[in-house]
Amino acid sequence: MESNVKYDSWFRCIGGCPDRHPLNEIIYKCPKCGELLEVVHDLEPLKEKGAEYWKDLFDGRYRRPDFPYGSSVWGKKEMVCPNVDNENIISMYEGGTNLFHAHRFARAIGMEDLWVKESGNNATGSFKDLGMTVLVSMVNQMIAEGQEILGVACASTGDTSASLAAYCAAAGLRAIVFLPRGKVSTAQLIQPLASGALTLALDTDFDGCMELVREICARNKIYLANSMNSLRVEGQKTVGMEIVQQLNWEVPDTIIIPGGNLGNVSALGKGLILMRELGMIDRFPRIICAQAAKANPLYLSYLSGFEEYEPITAGNTVASAIRIGNPVSIRKAIKVLKEFDGIVEQATEGELANAAAWADRTGLFCCPHTGVALAVLLKLLEAGKIGRRERVVVISTANGLKFTEFKTRYHEGKLDEVESRFANLPVDLPADYGEIKKAIYENI
Ligand SMILES: *Cc1c(COP(=O)(O)O)cnc(C)c1O
Ligand SMILES: [Zn+2]
Repeated sequence: MESNVKYDSWFRCIGGCPDRHPLNEIIYKCPKCGELLEVVHDLEPLKEKGAEYWKDLFDGRYRRPDFPYGSSVWGKKEMVCPNVDNENIISMYEGGTNLFHAHRFARAIGMEDLWVKESGNNATGSFKDLGMTVLVSMVNQMIAEGQEILGVACASTGDTSASLAAYCAAAGLRAIVFLPRGKVSTAQLIQPLASGALTLALDTDFDGCMELVREICARNKIYLANSMNSLRVEGQKTVGMEIVQQLNWEVPDTIIIPGGNLGNVSALGKGLILMRELGMIDRFPRIICAQAAKANPLYLSYLSGFEEYEPITAGNTVASAIRIGNPVSIRKAIKVLKEFDGIVEQATEGELANAAAWADRTGLFCCPHTGVALAVLLKLLEAGKIGRRERVVVISTANGLKFTEFKTRYHEGKLDEVESRFANLPVDLPADYGEIKKAIYENI
C-alpha cells in the first residue's frame, strides 16, 4: 500500500522565519525568534494525486486490519508524518472513534442535526492518543537512528501523561510525567503509574509543571512531549479530517471543541486547512472554542477581538484537563479562530456539570470538558449565534469513566457552585418483593 512518490515534511517557525528543520531534530522553538514551530508538508506531491484519490485511499484503509493504516492517524500517514518508517511506528489504532448522532439531546434542546465525536474512545481514554502515536513513533525512530534520548517527559493535566506513559510502555521507552498534585482524577493518576512511568506529583499547578518540564528537557537528554512539540499537532489534526470523512466528506456548519493549552483547536484548524488546500473540501466549518469560566484566558482575549491577551492563574474547575492559565499554543489558536470565523464562549461550573448530566440522560457519558462544550452550545443557541438547523459537531475529548469522582459528587449534590438538576441516586431497599414492586411503580 505504500506508494513510491516521495512525500516530505519538516519543522518551520510559525513567525515566518524561512529555515527548515528536520523532524528528527530535537527542537521545539525557532532558534532565531523563539516562536513555536509547526510541521509543514510538501504540498506538490500531495496535490498531484487529486482529492478523490486521497478520499478513496483513506476510506479503503479506515479501520482495516493492515498495520499501521487501520489507525485513522496512520491511515492518513502521507499528510501526517511520512518521515517515520512503518517499522518504527508505535500505534494502538488511534481514531476511528464513533461519531454519535445525538438525536435525543438535539431534540431536547431544539436542534435537528447534532453529532458528538467520541474522541474519548481512544486507547487511553482521550484524544491525546492521536498526537502521542506520532511523537512516540518519531522518538522511537530517532533512537533507532542512534540519537541519545534518556526519556520522554511531559507536564500534564492528566490525559497527556496517561497517553505518553502507555505509548512509551508499548515502545519500551522511559516516560517521566509531571503532574500537579491533587489536581488530576484517580484514574488519570493510576494510568501512568500502571504503565510504569516515573510519575512526579508536584506541589504546583499545570502551568508550574510546564515551566519545570521545559527546563528539565532543555538542559538534559530528555525529549519534551507537550503540545508545543508540533509532532503531536500533526496526529491531532486528523480529528477534523476524520469527522468530515465520517460525514461522507461533507463539512459540518460548526465544530465545538473545549480548549485549555489550545493545541487541539489549533490542530483541528490545521487539518481542515490542509484538506482545503488539496481540494478535499471546498469550505470551512465555523470553529467554536469552549473554555471553563475559571480558566478562560482565550475567552478574555476574544472579548477584545484578540487585540489583548494576558495569561491568568487558572481557578479550581472540575474541568481539570483544561485548567490552564497560560496556554502554550495561544498564537496558533488565535490564528485558527480568525480564519474559521471563530467564537470563544465560556461555561460556569453549574452550566458545564448540568449540560454533561443532561446529555448523559440521552445516551452519552460525558467528561466535564465535553460538558463545557455542550454548555457553550446551549448558550450560543439561546443567543442565536448558532442556528437551530445547523449541522453541529461537538468534540468529546475524554471518556467519562476517567471522571467518576466528578459524576459521583454531581449526583450526590456535593459539587461546589453546582445545583444538580439531573441528580439520580440509588434507592436503598430491603431484599423484599413488595418493597421493590412499590419502588418501581412509584418511579416509572
Ligand atoms: C487536553 C485536553 C483538553 C484540552 O486540549 P488542549 O489542546 O490543551 O486545548 C480538553 N479535554 C481533555 C479531556 C483533555 O485531556
Ligand atoms: Zn522564527
